Amino acid sequence: MNVFSDTAFDGHEQVVFASDPDTGLKSIIAVHNTNLGPSLGGCRMWPYATEQEAIHDVLRLSRGMTYKSALANLPLGGGKSVIIGDPRSQKTPQLFRAMGRAIEQVGGRYIVAEDVGTTPADMVQIASQTKHVGGINDGKDPARTGDPSPFTAYGVFMGLKEAVRFKNGHDDLGGLRVAVQGLGNVGYHLCRMLHKAGAQLVVADLNAHSVNNAVTEFGATAVPADEILYADVDILAPCALGGVINDHSINKIRARIIAGAANNQLESDRHGNMLREADILYAPDYVINAGGVVEVYYCREGKPVTETNKHIEGIGATVREIFERAKQQNLSTGFVADRLAEERFGTKAKTVA
Ligand code: NAD
Repeated sequence: MNVFSDTAFDGHEQVVFASDPDTGLKSIIAVHNTNLGPSLGGCRMWPYATEQEAIHDVLRLSRGMTYKSALANLPLGGGKSVIIGDPRSQKTPQLFRAMGRAIEQVGGRYIVAEDVGTTPADMVQIASQTKHVGGINDGKDPARTGDPSPFTAYGVFMGLKEAVRFKNGHDDLGGLRVAVQGLGNVGYHLCRMLHKAGAQLVVADLNAHSVNNAVTEFGATAVPADEILYADVDILAPCALGGVINDHSINKIRARIIAGAANNQLESDRHGNMLREADILYAPDYVINAGGVVEVYYCREGKPVTETNKHIEGIGATVREIFERAKQQNLSTGFVADRLAEERFGTKAKTVA
């Protein structure tokens, strides 16, 4: 089993393996970097085939959170946790209370939130054992539903508008055609904002019900799921899956801007360079989909949603800085984003005493 030599280790400050035989808990808590503040990241419950797979996943995701929080201008570092197990059959309140005790022992260097396989109810169990939990809705702000997706969509909308401003000299979306791949929690909210701003929508989802709703509510044009990436549009917003920008798709994309919510849209860094060469402006996914993390932070701080939204509007300035530097230095936007994040958090991790 490799930890230090895992390709995603990258100077992690701390990696904790926590188990509890009574509840069957087997978990890993990874703290990548706390230079800017305590690390925050979701707790993923997943039936990993091997322990190495779980280690790699938690390290990769934890590192990603350092970059995301730094570019979102949050006083937070990057961390993540995983519970090895099947969320459909192996969840118990006791398991999450044991996880809460494990998080408590990390002493506030890691703040947990929901992720794939965990729910608000699981966070409540964790919160019975530790205060280091983000994003629990206390119900005091009626504008706060506990769902981060509308905030993620708002950040994507801000990033998309900034991309339009960079390309067109103004951010008027009136009459621009936008293809949205995936009408789930984020994609549908994004469609609502785009429609309100006057964009013409082209949409696809595997779920016909969501597609019908978008056609009725926003006058969207529906296209088959395997055609949406290649639609004749100005902007492509991938909001479904990762890896959609790849050797197979890249030469067929007609949009001049790509700005969407999906994580890891580029199959590899090389595809960022290919987009640059094709003069397609790519708004790096982890920069513009950070609205949900911003909301988790503001919710934890007990600050109102109005402040969350104001902070999210700052995503536009960060994206603009990335676009400008990328243009000046003839580099891909993804590469520039990573370097800007490193400038902000400092690449050298602190050593834990
Ligand atoms: P979701 O599961 O609610 O929605 C995804 C939608 O994509 C579903 O409606 C699904 O039917 C559709 N879909 C799946 N495969 C498709 C295909 N081949 N073609 C067209 N549609 C397809 O997820 P979400 O919460 O809306 O998140 C969307 C993306 O954004 C994911 O990649 C997620 O990791 C990322 N993201 C989400 C958040 C958030 O706050 N929810 C935050 C950051 C990043």
